[in-house]
Amino acid sequence: MMAQYFELTEQYDDALVLFQNGDFYQTYCEAAEEVARRLELTLTKREDSTGTYRMAGIPVDNAASYVEGLLDAGYRVAIAEQVEDAEAASGLVDRAVTRIVTPGTVVDDELLGAGTTNYVAAVAADEDGDSWGVAAVDVSTGESLVTGVDSRERAVEELERVAPSEVLTGPDAALDPDELDWEPMLTDHDPAVFASERARETVAAYVPNPDAVVAGDAELRATGAVLAYAEYTQGDDGPLAYVSRITRYDPREYLRLDATAVRSLELFETRGHSAGEPLVSVLEDTASALGRRLLHRWLRRPLVDEAAIEARLDAVEAWTRRGVDREAVRDLLSEVYDVERLVGRVSRGRANARDLRSLKETLDVVPGVKTAMGEVDAERLRNLRDALDELEDVRDLIGRAIQPDPPVEVTEGGVVRAGFDDELDDLRTTEREGREWVADLEARERERTGIDSLSVGHNQVHGYYIEVTKPNLDRVPDDYTRRQTLKNAERYYTPELKRREDEILGAAERADSLEYELFREVRDDVAAETDRLQSVADALAELDVLTTLAAVAVDHDYVRPTVGAADISIRGGRHPVVEQTRESFVPNDADFTDADVAVVTGPNMSGKSTYMRQVALICVLAQVGGFVPADAADLPVLDRVFTRVGASDDIAGGQSTFMREMAELTDILHNATEDSLILLDEVGRGTSTTDGLAIAWATTEFVDDEVGATTLFATHYHELTAIADEREAVRNLHFTASREDGDVTFLHRVAEGASSSSYGVEVAALAGVPEAVVERSRTLIEEGVPVQREDGRTTLDDFRGVAGGGGATVPDSPPGATNGRAGGGDDETAVNDASDRLTARGDADPPDETLREVAAELREVDVADTTPLEALNLLNDLRTRLDDRDS
Ligand code: ADP
Repeated sequence: MMAQYFELTEQYDDALVLFQNGDFYQTYCEAAEEVARRLELTLTKREDSTGTYRMAGIPVDNAASYVEGLLDAGYRVAIAEQVEDAEAASGLVDRAVTRIVTPGTVVDDELLGAGTTNYVAAVAADEDGDSWGVAAVDVSTGESLVTGVDSRERAVEELERVAPSEVLTGPDAALDPDELDWEPMLTDHDPAVFASERARETVAAYVPNPDAVVAGDAELRATGAVLAYAEYTQGDDGPLAYVSRITRYDPREYLRLDATAVRSLELFETRGHSAGEPLVSVLEDTASALGRRLLHRWLRRPLVDEAAIEARLDAVEAWTRRGVDREAVRDLLSEVYDVERLVGRVSRGRANARDLRSLKETLDVVPGVKTAMGEVDAERLRNLRDALDELEDVRDLIGRAIQPDPPVEVTEGGVVRAGFDDELDDLRTTEREGREWVADLEARERERTGIDSLSVGHNQVHGYYIEVTKPNLDRVPDDYTRRQTLKNAERYYTPELKRREDEILGAAERADSLEYELFREVRDDVAAETDRLQSVADALAELDVLTTLAAVAVDHDYVRPTVGAADISIRGGRHPVVEQTRESFVPNDADFTDADVAVVTGPNMSGKSTYMRQVALICVLAQVGGFVPADAADLPVLDRVFTRVGASDDIAGGQSTFMREMAELTDILHNATEDSLILLDEVGRGTSTTDGLAIAWATTEFVDDEVGATTLFATHYHELTAIADEREAVRNLHFTASREDGDVTFLHRVAEGASSSSYGVEVAALAGVPEAVVERSRTLIEEGVPVQREDGRTTLDDFRGVAGGGGATVPDSPPGATNGRAGGGDDETAVNDASDRLTARGDADPPDETLREVAAELREVDVADTTPLEALNLLNDLRTRLDDRDS
């Protein structure tokens, strides 16, 4: 047996082999130590003639959670099952790896979570590297995607969008984990599956003419590879029948949202520091797992085809008007099982009788859904209703064949209904009559023998027996044969009882295996209808999403957007997530009909980023086909949304934050078009004020002159607001706050023009900065200090020119040229600049020794290279010094 084990571990050397031995999956030697450690299992020993082996076992019945632990720990798991009946086998029981579980190819519901997608992907490129194929399969549902792009960068971007949990690194696309924004398992699978000819063969088993589905060699090779790998992991020698629809898409058919945008708009997950919810949480109150999965797909890929968007909007609108029917449909849909996964299991031959019943119960819902849909008035809905095949043949088959509440095991009987198969019925009748005969035997024998205490019983070892207590032994008839002697009684059988017993057992055994056979036939018959079942699943999923979007629209007071306008014009827009968490949310307009670029100023916490994101989210929602949180919205069809937000979040990324910021800016300036939406939340803050402002200024000009994209630019560089005076297409927006008794209240209301007052110091005070620092800041603003800059070029003699409030003093030319500091300086710019001076002033009168030191020390910090703990310690240290100084 150990030889068999070692052979398998060698054959599957990139996986952890779980070797079935009866009720346990065993691991041995080093693997056992690993498993015991990872899963906190007891390490035991196995001794046989060949030696002593460390051993750790996982119960077969309860393997899923352990397997999950191993996947989490980064293993692939090869499941080697006993493929022979242990009792029937002569000698060693044969074992074979029946499937390999990897993060991208898991199919177990327990490990997947309801309504999720889980892809494994492959990437391939042609020789010159200018045509790339990305293919992905969800092995649990059979969904399969392929696309082609023209550069490695775009391939990685497409991968990010699909976010597979496992990627095959083919011969021409070795991926570096550091370049990926998420953490898939990178699998180095047999490179042969990437070869063109082999790939063509693989794909041809799925679609009659591969060239009709995939375009070009790179796509073919990626598709072939990923399908071959899927087959390999499922232990199948042939194609996976339920992967019958390979969908090729062109990335240009969708609104492009790269990983940065998906993350910063918080579509699916919130970013580390944020306590809120992602957008999807507001929308995903779908009735079924099917709907949930589709909603995620839609959100990942909003449309750009106006007609398609309108078609979805029509359908959503129709449902907003028919509340009662909508809720009726949603009620019915909540009874729908995850048909996609069920069909996957049926087709892989892994569905049990309960799965078939679940399938039937889902199909039972369909006629009701169609009735509840009624006379639908949107074309999309009519198509859906037509696509809802009731599959009466399948329903009827399962209904006739499978018991309503069947056991999980399919080999032990109780699965197939009476009346479905004559032979089975006969066997069950024989069995039942036999048992009835036995049940009556006691009474008959008591009568015959006159022994009142005579009893008939059954046990596992001896089967049926007649028991007679010792005092009555003299009355035992001749035809009784002794079977077993107990302390107070003897047990007997008769030839007739023996015959009946054999008959009962034989019939039961044959019935069980016949049932299993029949069950498999039924399952195969259902599997043959995979395509129809998948179509029904698709239609139910879409109906679910459309009714859910309508319900969300009604519940939260969304409106239908007008899509196809030249410019964004939103009246009373709201942030779909923030409005759920705030007691009162202040709606804001966003009108880009007269200007492409808006420079947004206002103190921290005044609502700038919420505002910018809500504009983007409203556009995204509209292109998904949903209503939007606004009073009215005229929207263009965007090709892409770019975001450059909060560099400080990425400290852990390794790259210096400024470099990263500039890399993101590069991407935006190169790739944005006039149909794009750009959100810039601070640009150039990772460098000196002068450089930063110059870059921000030049960026704004470039966006206006060369790109023409709709752009929202939130900035602390108040000076930037001067551009609006020079350029038609640039305008200023600012967030207001009211200040009473030194306290700041944010109104969260956007207004035309640049902000005119500095709130930085008050915000600092609100945040708990020591009173002494706050007071000193106020004095500095009031009185100013003479400052000599390091380069000796500029001398500013006080803070007032910077923080003067009131109307902006506009620099004559871009600030980089003059190094000018002017305008109603915004809070942080002023503070930045103050520390500039404080450290730059050499040996002039120190405004405060401690402050100077603190500032100098802060400047020393290499943020990208500081651990959170070091940062905390430093913060504590600086704070203590300020406290000491105050006391
Ligand atoms: P900024 O980007 O200016 O620092 P944020 O957009 O992060 O400000 O918003 C700061 C806080 O104000 C957030 O907690 C947010 O919930 C709240 N907020 C933002 N906009 C609004 C609004 N329109 N109505 C109500 N609360 C808002």
